[in-house]
Amino acid sequence: MYYCRMQDVGKAKADVAAARVMQRVKGVTVTPHFCKIEEKDISFFKDFQIIVLGLDSLEARSYINSVVCGFVEYEEDGSPDLSTIKPLVDGGTEGFKGHARVIIPGITPCFHCSLWLFPPQITFPLCTLAETPRSPAHCIEFAHLIQWGQDRTGETFDADNPEHMKWIYDQALKRGEQFNISGITYSLTQGVVKNIVPAIASTNAIIAATCVLETLKIATMCSTGMDIYMQYTGTEGIYLRTVPHDKDPNCIICSPGVPLEVDKSITLQKFIDTLFKDRRFKLKLSKPSVSYHGNNLYMQAPPVLEEMTRPNLQEPLVRLMGGEKSDVLNINDRRLSGVLRVRVTFRDDAETIDMDTVGTH
Ligand SMILES: [Zn+2]
Repeated sequence: MYYCRMQDVGKAKADVAAARVMQRVKGVTVTPHFCKIEEKDISFFKDFQIIVLGLDSLEARSYINSVVCGFVEYEEDGSPDLSTIKPLVDGGTEGFKGHARVIIPGITPCFHCSLWLFPPQITFPLCTLAETPRSPAHCIEFAHLIQWGQDRTGETFDADNPEHMKWIYDQALKRGEQFNISGITYSLTQGVVKNIVPAIASTNAIIAATCVLETLKIATMCSTGMDIYMQYTGTEGIYLRTVPHDKDPNCIICSPGVPLEVDKSITLQKFIDTLFKDRRFKLKLSKPSVSYHGNNLYMQAPPVLEEMTRPNLQEPLVRLMGGEKSDVLNINDRRLSGVLRVRVTFRDDAETIDMDTVGTH
């Protein structure tokens, strides 16, 4: 989080920020990387002890979260191997609001455990825009989503074209006059159309300072960390609180074993089919490979391994798992940036049959 000076305009933020920090703090080395973090090899992240995020999207946060959770190795009893944990400190701001949180993968809830915190992007119902506009944003969205298509058919709207933006602004102004709505400005038009929330220096400073403090606590163990999630709102006065969150036992990113009950007679092939039917996993998988305690039960690639493990598909899973009643299988898939751990528990087929018999009496 950093504010640029005139001479910095047009340069990469990472490069400028790194140079400035090195100027201010003697003896520190900052290596800037100007690229998408998703482009970095996963091994790149292994070299860090603590990772502090200042990202601007859900996708990027989700990605790093799953990479770091994927590094955690679990003991037989499901407890995480502490030496494999890389703490994450995350901060974000939107106008006068901000948050900071600490994620200790395998111990505290991960980012994915509380994805519900992020509401879907606000959109206005079209009928409100068309019939009962009540705010400047309604007028702007009307011009942008409806009027443009009506009056400038065949032209693709380009938010980076100043003439297009000015047109939206003029139409929104007219509509505002019609419905007696004031407060429509050119910069608000840009903000609404491009979905931009202006950055507020004080919010950024507060959130950045919180992230630094939490990082210092983790690095030095001088104090216990914050209770999971800090919210800050500076719209009217200052509202600040921390909220503890719970781990989601079904979290496919950080659970030591997402629980899944299957019939005792299930084959490995049927088990893989079951994964695709389960709403928790299906969107995350394309070609899953399955392993058990380091043994490859089924590998999708390379072809040699696929051929070698293919006969297992018709084997009962319980036999492949050495007759255990319940244990964890590791699922790897190119859609996942880490390992998916599924705790399989076998249902006794006999029990199911008994239940059915009782039901028919
Ligand atoms: Zn999680």
